Amino acid sequence: MEVDLGLSCPGCHEPWLRPTNLPGRYRCVNCLLRYELRSVCPNCGEHSTIVRMSKTATLACNHCGSSMLVQV
Ligand SMILES: [Zn+2]
Ligand SMILES: [Zn+2]
Repeated sequence: MEVDLGLSCPGCHEPWLRPTNLPGRYRCVNCLLRYELRSVCPNCGEHSTIVRMSKTATLACNHCGSSMLVQV
């Protein structure tokens, strides 16, 4: 069961990841870590086409399913 509260934080796994006013940057309002959305998967190196329009985007690699978010 998934409640649409927002994006899940890769760090604390709570759905409190919020976009910042910087493009591709997110911040978790729970653990206060900052993340950057990469266009290249940090896990498998595959380029990914992330739809940034939607706030409910999964931000996961289409290739390996790993998170495209890197802590900054
Ligand atoms: Zn967090
Ligand atoms: Zn990948």
